[in-house]
Amino acid sequence: MAAGGHVVWFKRDLRTRDHEPLQRALQSASHAGGKVLLLQVFEPGLLAHPTTSSRHVRFQWECGDDIQFTLKQESWGLTFHRVHAPVLDVLDHLRQTVGVAAIHSHEETGVLWTFDRDKKVAQWCHAHGVLWHEVSQAGVQRRRTSRAGWVEAWHVNMARPWANPDLESWRASEGREAEVVWPAAWTLQEAPSVAHGADLNGAGPFQPGGERSGHAYLKSFLKEGRIHTYQKHISKPEFSRKSCSRLSPYLAWGAMTIRQVYQALESTSQGRNHHAFGSRLRWHCHFIQKFESEHALEWRNVNRAYDALPVHRNPEWLARWKEGATGVPLVDACMRAVRETGYLNFRMRAMLVSFLTHHMNHAWQDGVEHLARCFLDFEPGIHYSQFQMQAGVTGINTVRIYNPVKQGQEQDPEGNFVRSWVPELESVPSEWIHAPWTAPPMEAAMGGWASEAYPDPMLDLTEAARAARERMWAFRKRPDVKAEGRRILARHVVPPRAQTKGRMREL
Ligand SMILES: Cc1cc2nc3c(=O)[nH]c(=O)nc-3n(C[C@H](O)[C@H](O)[C@H](O)COP(=O)(O)OP(=O)(O)OC[C@H]3O[C@@H](n4cnc5c(N)ncnc54)[C@H](O)[C@@H]3O)c2cc1C
Repeated sequence: MAAGGHVVWFKRDLRTRDHEPLQRALQSASHAGGKVLLLQVFEPGLLAHPTTSSRHVRFQWECGDDIQFTLKQESWGLTFHRVHAPVLDVLDHLRQTVGVAAIHSHEETGVLWTFDRDKKVAQWCHAHGVLWHEVSQAGVQRRRTSRAGWVEAWHVNMARPWANPDLESWRASEGREAEVVWPAAWTLQEAPSVAHGADLNGAGPFQPGGERSGHAYLKSFLKEGRIHTYQKHISKPEFSRKSCSRLSPYLAWGAMTIRQVYQALESTSQGRNHHAFGSRLRWHCHFIQKFESEHALEWRNVNRAYDALPVHRNPEWLARWKEGATGVPLVDACMRAVRETGYLNFRMRAMLVSFLTHHMNHAWQDGVEHLARCFLDFEPGIHYSQFQMQAGVTGINTVRIYNPVKQGQEQDPEGNFVRSWVPELESVPSEWIHAPWTAPPMEAAMGGWASEAYPDPMLDLTEAARAARERMWAFRKRPDVKAEGRRILARHVVPPRAQTKGRMREL
């Protein structure tokens, strides 16, 4: 093994507690009197990736600030280093200046870019005799070929104690920080800039990054009672903003772990809301596990038979969908809200994808990167899998074609959410707010609310939904779709248990 320090490479795990690589690195260095270096690398290639936006980088930067705060507050005697350079250059620099004995990190279930980068890091480690200890993030299991026993293993994992660093031993030991001087061009005073997403709100306010903020959200959800209206409001675009946990960005960037949330949930009194929330924690890992097992989900249909699905490309419609200018109030309000705040609840995310792929008949690939950039909580494993499900190209899930007018009437009956994001419709009465084009012109004129500023829908909603239903159901019956469906079930779905009497379960 090469001589030198233990590098803790922080990726999507920006926290100080329940962090096995950090725990191991301090332990190894304490025992052998070695050196430790805590490192986050902002890689130019990833900053230029089409899924990356400035809100993600800003959130990661704030998580780093919070780590620095904790290190100082708790007198760890360590610095959190943040550099801007390709990771292989960073590792070369460390090898030549302070030496690298081992890299400690989590396994990343990321986009192809990070997968390829990790293969190069593995080659680099091999070439230089450096050990790379990679451990799984809670709940996702690498190199699985089926889901047999997956749920049981997940529960065992969730019940394990947090992997916390033994600070007392570390402080009492001869272990020290590796002292490194970085090339000036790599040092950062603020979050670096990105290549894409200049059209989105870059300034915030967004949910603040950091481990402490994540735990504050968890506390206000479980202990201060936001959870009590969880199920009642989960599908409502306005009320979900308060009644859902809002933990997703903290989980996606690793400011907290699923295990921490699960254990906090288990320690509170239980009820319907708790049960529904607990299931979603498992879904989080279930979807990432899918992506871990089949990363081509990033660019091609999980059910290959859908490659033959005829799609239509209308650049003008696509631009209007991305901007929130389709002329369909709820669709536009949702898109404008997520562009501005980075958040949207599940049902409304699903509706945006349904509108793109079913009403507009675009390929899901045409919108997947745009929404990745919009979502503050972009998590590749959940994002790509959910996109494909909502686009109806798995062949194993029910096809849902959301009617945006009906969704509006059910989930935003007074139209307050629409009015707050589409001010052009501010004076439209609730009766017409979700379909203003259906109001008799006299009604609008007499009420004084006809709005020239807001366009009519860019497509005929009824006709587009009818065509989508025909297209999707005809495809569903094809033998090649069914054959691929069986392969997907075998690979990604939990096999039947005794109590489910032979029915396949998708968690
Ligand atoms: C097209 C589409 C794309 C999505 N992309 C993402 C993404 O990039 N990142 C992301 O975290 N979620 C994504 N989701 C899932 C879901 O919409 C969000 O996790 C949820 O809205 C986040 O809000 P919350 O933290 O308040 O959730 P809560 O309802 O409070 O749930 C708690 C946690 O459970 C997990 N979770 C909740 N719902 C789901 C679900 N349906 N599938 C998997 N995990 C779930 C999340 O980690 C969430 O933080 C996507 C959904 C759709 C339809």
